[in-house]
Amino acid sequence: MAENKFPDVNDPATAPFWKGTRDGKIVVQACTKCGYLRWPPGPICNECLSSETEWKEISPIGTLWSYAVYHRAMNPRFKDEIPYTVALVELDDGPRMYGRLVATTAKVEPGVRVRAAFQEIEPGVTFVYWEIK
Ligand SMILES: [Zn+2]
Repeated sequence: MAENKFPDVNDPATAPFWKGTRDGKIVVQACTKCGYLRWPPGPICNECLSSETEWKEISPIGTLWSYAVYHRAMNPRFKDEIPYTVALVELDDGPRMYGRLVATTAKVEPGVRVRAAFQEIEPGVTFVYWEIK
């Protein structure tokens, strides 16, 4: 049974990302040794294994990599919105990120260009959505 839970936006491991979404920005970890941008966040760099990191704003533009249409809501909060589309987007700066696709009449297919949109789901919790450019 799914629970009506949202991410802990104050968890130090992800708080800078959630602050970014509240400000309408995509903010990810950047390795200060080699510059590799990573999402989801982690304790060490996937490329050079350094633990030196900072948070950096990146471009909100990317390309739809893949998607799935959900007919069951992963969270009861969204049950009245099904079916909805969850997209995997490859951002122009490199990281891949999941998010709902904003309802659209445009053709949804891998390769279309998308831009991040930000929607407050509940006070203090802003999700990244994707809209086709
Ligand atoms: Zn690195």
